[in-house]
Amino acid sequence: MTGDTSHPEDFEIVGEQVALGESRDLSLVVTQSFSGTDVSIPLKVVRGAQPGPTLLLTAAVHGDELNGTGMIREMILAPPCELVAGTLVLVPVVNILGYERNARYTPDRRDLNRSFPGVADGSLASRIAHAIFQGLVLPCDYLIDLHTAAVGRTNFPNVRADLGRPEVRRIARAFGCPLVIGKPGGRGTLRHAANVASRPAIVLEAGEVSKVEPAVVEMGLRGIRNVLINLGMAVGEPAKPAYQARVDRSTWLRSDAGGLLRFHAAPGEVVEKNQPVATCTTLLGADNGVLRAPEDGVIMGLTTFPSVKPGDPVCHLAIPRRGIAPIRRALRLLPDESLHDRVLGELASSVAIDEPDDEWV
Ligand SMILES: [Zn+2]
Repeated sequence: MTGDTSHPEDFEIVGEQVALGESRDLSLVVTQSFSGTDVSIPLKVVRGAQPGPTLLLTAAVHGDELNGTGMIREMILAPPCELVAGTLVLVPVVNILGYERNARYTPDRRDLNRSFPGVADGSLASRIAHAIFQGLVLPCDYLIDLHTAAVGRTNFPNVRADLGRPEVRRIARAFGCPLVIGKPGGRGTLRHAANVASRPAIVLEAGEVSKVEPAVVEMGLRGIRNVLINLGMAVGEPAKPAYQARVDRSTWLRSDAGGLLRFHAAPGEVVEKNQPVATCTTLLGADNGVLRAPEDGVIMGLTTFPSVKPGDPVCHLAIPRRGIAPIRRALRLLPDESLHDRVLGELASSVAIDEPDDEWV
């Protein structure tokens, strides 16, 4: 190559060089539209004054999951810390074709998050995945992929990580989410493909689709800042979560009846075995069965659709490895108006929470 003016400390991505201390708005062409014009996704590269690792933040791999997109906008407009070393690559929307239609999937009805690392001559989704994997994931060292629950559900913020990989475990713990779910991502997920390519990756699952939820965004930013500090990219004291529980197992509670749910517990709430989580009522209000926690746990996901049929999933219960007693102790020490409580309040705003009719002890 002739005329190479690149500096050894330059970071190269999407064919552009970014110098230390520099910040650039760039884009990556991922496909073409029906009109034959290029479709690209915007990205921002921010570099600290010192060399260091490169962290990739991705959002909206499912095109309707916008909390991560909101987190990345905050990282740009009001960053929670100054980047002193290393490089941040911010990708607010990965599945741009889904995002344009407020849809989870790509227009060929495929799940982009089952298409990684993709192939150059595959389906639409597979080609987009390939462009993103080659263009954005491989130039980076670490990945945080930001998701929400699927439509009709909400998630209490939790980090999902293949904890058998030491560098994954490192950033998963550093993030500082109350629940850390030890689970390797399925084949085809961005997280799995990145880990296989030795780019340690975690997923944040937080909140619900089609919304930017302020307290959820705040909790996400706190976690990103914690990881930046852990990787030596920012300075400061990491912010501690209310608690951090490792979860190796979770279970879905399904409605045994059809009807309209009354909820008795909110996302993020700690529940004991046999505690009522929801009552299914007929449309005229008669009790049609109470759904109870099968064991002690934390409500990690909850439906936001109150109408159910038999077999519909209502609640995703996380079973903490060390039980709920240490969590309860930690929660008693929380100050008023904590971020933890504000997130719980925000997530509960989409479901009606009331007391069950009967005592449950
Ligand atoms: Zn998702």
